[in-house]
Amino acid sequence: MPQKTKAPVPASARKPARAAAAGVDAAQAKAGKAPASPAQAKPSKGVSRKAAAPLPATGRAKAAALAAPPKPAPRRRAVANAEAAAYGRTLAAWSHAEIVEAFTRFEAADPEPKGELEHSDPFTLLVAVVLSAQATDAGVNKATRGLFAAASTPAAMAALGEEGIARHIRTLGLFKGKAKNVAELSRLLLARHGGQVPHDREALEALPGVGRKTANVVLNIAFGEPTIAVDTHLFRVANRTGLAPGATPLAVEEGLEARIPDRFKLHAHHWLILHGRYICKARQPECRRCLIADLCRWPEKII
Ligand code: SF4
Repeated sequence: MPQKTKAPVPASARKPARAAAAGVDAAQAKAGKAPASPAQAKPSKGVSRKAAAPLPATGRAKAAALAAPPKPAPRRRAVANAEAAAYGRTLAAWSHAEIVEAFTRFEAADPEPKGELEHSDPFTLLVAVVLSAQATDAGVNKATRGLFAAASTPAAMAALGEEGIARHIRTLGLFKGKAKNVAELSRLLLARHGGQVPHDREALEALPGVGRKTANVVLNIAFGEPTIAVDTHLFRVANRTGLAPGATPLAVEEGLEARIPDRFKLHAHHWLILHGRYICKARQPECRRCLIADLCRWPEKII
C-alpha cells in the first residue's frame, strides 16, 4: 500500500494560494455588476419586499451561488508553485552530498538530455523560445513548422513581417505581440549583429521579447554555456524538493548556480525541466516513479 507522509504543509505555505483565491473573488466582486453579497443587494423594480427579504444563511449561500458569475478555473499550476515556494522557505536546503547524489542519478538515467523545442540553429531556437511564453513546446513546434518553412533566417523573417508571422502562429496565445517581437528582433539582428544571434547576455536581453530566461536557454543550448533558465517547472522542483528554495525565479536561479557542482551545470536545466514536466507535475506529482523521492523534502510526496 502506498503511504502518504503525514507532515502537513505549514499554514504559511498555504497562504499564497488562499490569498490568490481571495484576490480572484475580490476582483470579481469589483468588476462584476452583481453585488459582492446578496445581503447588500437592493431589490430591483418588480421584486416584492417579501421576495427581496433577507434570506436565511443557507438560502443566502444558494442564492449567491446562483447569482454569482461563474468563477474562472483556478490556475492550479500557479497555486502549486506558490505553495511550493512558501513551503520551500521552511526547508533546510539539500546538502552538497544530496545534490551530487541527485544529479548523478539524473545523469545515469539520461546522459544527454535535450530540450523539446524544434530548431535548426541559434536563430530558430531564439524564435522558438520567444514564442514559448505561455505556450506548450508541442504547441510551439506545431506553429514553427510552417513558420520556419516560410522563413528560417533573420532576413527572411524580417521580410515576412509582423502580419505574415502572425498568420503562422495564431494558434499561440499572445500571438500578435509575439509576431511583433519576432519581426523586430529579426530586423535588429540584421542591423546590430550581422544577422547572427549574439553570444552575449546583454545583447540578447536587448532584443524585444527576450528576457533573462530566454537568454539563459539560448546561451545554454546554442552556445553550451552552463546557464540555468528557471521556468515554472524548475521553480516548483527546486522549492518542493529543497534543492534550492527561493521566493522568485531569480532567487532560485542564483541558488541553483551556487549549489550545483560545475560538472552537472550544462545539463542541469534540462534534467530539472524534464523532471518537473513529466514527473514532479504541478497537480499530481508521480512520486512513485521519481528518481529522487528519498531525497525530496516535500511533505505531500506519495511514496
Ligand atoms: S518525490 Fe514527488 S514531490 Fe518530490 S520531487 Fe519526486 S515527484 Fe516531486
